[in-house]
Amino acid sequence: MAENGGGSPEHKELKNQKRIVRRQRRRQNYRIRQSTTSMFFLLWAVFFALSFVVIIIYGVAQRVAVERAYKMQTVEALHEEGGEIKAAVENGLPEAFGGSWSAYINYLSARYSVEVYLLDGEGVIVFPRNPHQSGEDGKEQAFQEEIGTVLEKLDGLLVTDYAIYEGSGEYVYCTRVYLYGDNPLYLYVAEPLDFLQSSMQEMTARSIILAVIMFVISLALSSTVSGMLTTPIAEMTKKARELANGDFDVDFHGKMYGAELVELAESLNFARDELSKTDKMQKELIANVSHDFKTPLTMIKGYASMIKEISGENKEKREKHAQIIVDEADRLASLVNDLLDLSKIRSGIAELNLEEIDTSLFVREILERFDYVKDTQGYAFEVEIESGLYTRADRVKIGQALYNLIGNAVNYTGEDKRVRVSLKRTGENVFRFSVQDTGEGIKAEELSVIWDRYYRVSETHKRPVSGTGLGLSIVKVVLERHGFFYGVESEIGKGSTFYVDFPIVTDFNTQENG
Ligand code: ADP
Repeated sequence: MAENGGGSPEHKELKNQKRIVRRQRRRQNYRIRQSTTSMFFLLWAVFFALSFVVIIIYGVAQRVAVERAYKMQTVEALHEEGGEIKAAVENGLPEAFGGSWSAYINYLSARYSVEVYLLDGEGVIVFPRNPHQSGEDGKEQAFQEEIGTVLEKLDGLLVTDYAIYEGSGEYVYCTRVYLYGDNPLYLYVAEPLDFLQSSMQEMTARSIILAVIMFVISLALSSTVSGMLTTPIAEMTKKARELANGDFDVDFHGKMYGAELVELAESLNFARDELSKTDKMQKELIANVSHDFKTPLTMIKGYASMIKEISGENKEKREKHAQIIVDEADRLASLVNDLLDLSKIRSGIAELNLEEIDTSLFVREILERFDYVKDTQGYAFEVEIESGLYTRADRVKIGQALYNLIGNAVNYTGEDKRVRVSLKRTGENVFRFSVQDTGEGIKAEELSVIWDRYYRVSETHKRPVSGTGLGLSIVKVVLERHGFFYGVESEIGKGSTFYVDFPIVTDFNTQENG
């Protein structure tokens, strides 16, 4: 017996499909990676932008504050120093300076660390005669322009008054002084602002250093924070892939920070459980469906052989056996139909064909289909239907859902074979269909799962109405597509009540009649 070694056409086909899926997945991953920016970069950008903005705001605020304080201080100092220099000049030339005003003015300049000049009304420097800074023509020129400002500032002020103003790159104190007779000279005391400029430069340099430090800190911070966030996310992504490949044992919990991540892990765990349930149910569905297909097929084959070999001649037996074959074929057909219905409705292929339905009449029509169990097997229906209740729904699909619910009640009701069906208005805009049986009821833990595909509490139940185990899942899908509220109440030993709430359509009558 030679092993095929995986060379069969099916195997090759399977391998091929897997390869295609892998390729698609790779492409998808690539696309995802392409189109998104990494969290690390985003965080870094945010941190950096934030610190940058903070540094700028801080820098500007500091500059403004320092500039103001410095200028105020300068004005104050000038006010004081200017006053003292003025007094000194007006007191006359001390003897120690040997009759040289220039030397005295230079001395005052040095003493107060300011620039002191005495100018005439034309802006020409009178003293010091050979000022150390005024070697250049530019400086004299500047004073000729400056004198205009000085005169303007002093204009209208008393003879003894002074003015302080901000010039270009310096603060200036000016006042009139009378050294010879009535013609005033102008005392010009300037305090340069170069200290301010140098401290501003220093502040800018400090801000740049601070920005570099912040850059490094935000790099470190963002890599730490993004590591804290992305490591668990990457871990979860890896696990999600494993889950997608059918590993239902993955646990999404792990070392993680932040309630949101924990919540995400919990949701993923929940999704895993649901997927695992669906997977299990799907496997069961296949097993059950194959089993349910096999039973009638075996019967059909058996009875067909019997007709062929034994009962063919005997008309009575032949007809009995042929009837069994027909019945079993019907069962097969209804199973196939249910499966098709369910998959069509679930996949959304089957559109809802909404129309106004006189539900009261409609339920009576459905009940008529149960006449055969009433007549042949002694089931008793207690029916209480209010008339004239209209709703808007898909007649075929709702009909099937209600039929399934009534069929189940018949199947699972108690020995007394009683089923109660009612249709009653329960609110201004709503009426309720309910079907009640007297059976064993449904255990609380089973109440939520009976709506799942192919769930059967017990396989051994004998049913007067054929069931494929898909009945309630069809009901669920149909009602959910309609958006109708439905449910079940059940008490062990007493029975169950399944109900559906229908919205009332009132304008139907007027539309019809009008
Ligand atoms: P089935 O063909 O098995 O009836 P359904 O989907 O209609 O399939 O029902 C699913 C399961 O729910 C049933 O197998 C049964 O265990 C339970 N069930 C449904 N209706 C009733 C009921 N009226 N009373 C008790 N159990 C019920």
